Amino acid sequence: MTAELLNGREIAKDYRAGLQNEVEKLKSMGITPNLTVVIVGNDGASLSYVRSKNKAAEKIGMESSIVRLDEDTSEEDVLAAVEKLNQDDNVNGILVQVPLPKQVDENKVLEAIAPHKDVDGFSPVNIGRLYTGQRTFVPCTPLGIMELLKHTGSLEGKTVAVVGRSHIVGQPVAKLLTNENATVTLMHSRTKDMVESLKNFDVVVSAVGKPGLIKGSDLKEGAVVIDVGNTVVDEKLVGDVDFESAKEVASYITPVPGGVGPLTITMVLNNTLLAAKWHNEDK
Ligand code: NAP
Repeated sequence: MTAELLNGREIAKDYRAGLQNEVEKLKSMGITPNLTVVIVGNDGASLSYVRSKNKAAEKIGMESSIVRLDEDTSEEDVLAAVEKLNQDDNVNGILVQVPLPKQVDENKVLEAIAPHKDVDGFSPVNIGRLYTGQRTFVPCTPLGIMELLKHTGSLEGKTVAVVGRSHIVGQPVAKLLTNENATVTLMHSRTKDMVESLKNFDVVVSAVGKPGLIKGSDLKEGAVVIDVGNTVVDEKLVGDVDFESAKEVASYITPVPGGVGPLTITMVLNNTLLAAKWHNEDK
């Protein structure tokens, strides 16, 4: 079997066109969704990631701004900057780019974002809402993974291995897959015979960050493979899955780059649009 490619760039493009229509509708009602990103320090990779989020927001008609703070900004001042955005009625979505410098407690800052503007969905309130089935901002990478999986058919009754149990990817995506009536096994660095067991699964989602962790010979024939891993090797971005061997066995597979990544940014826009809509509805 040669797998069908889950082209994240194409899927994201179509999805963003739908968002752009929604933005236009809101604008005709006098509401322009605004995404504001806070970045502390001058890390080149973080800056370019932040700029790409801003550009993507502007491209679909949203307003977008960056709040730049110096590398040595105190925790108190970062919290004050977040609070100012919480109070600003023109700002719908707030993102704080992580990692933060060592003098700033990341958890404190994420908790300080008003839950109704927390478009990353990382605040404890929104995580709690996700697990209790309430309206919330679903974290963007898991939401993007679910969008990709919609292109592979129903998940009902499927067995899914989620490799990696982080709060930003593995755990929330396991919850979303369970909501779709898949049977999920959450794997991690202490899972026994992890690679050997993968042959039992209809779908494999890998979010680890170890290139070459999973090979075609580890997979069930016809498996759906979502590779979330992003590691720079020899200045190239690579995933966890050995693409060349896996594509000969899988039915669908995401490339790296161009798979999950474009959907993650798209879902930041999706959540900002929701924030603007909900703010208007809840007035
Ligand atoms: P993380 O917090 O470092 O978590 C990695 C997970 O992998 C942990 O649960 C760890 O297990 C598990 N793990 C490590 N070695 C393993 C092994 N040999 N076998 C099985 N599991 C193993 O990472 P993350 O933030 O979730 O990110 C994971 C990857 O996804 C990274 O490459 C990141 O760059 C990428 N990512 C991509 C996007 C995107 O938009 N494309 C977004 C977010 C993240 P323990 O819990 O036992 O330590």
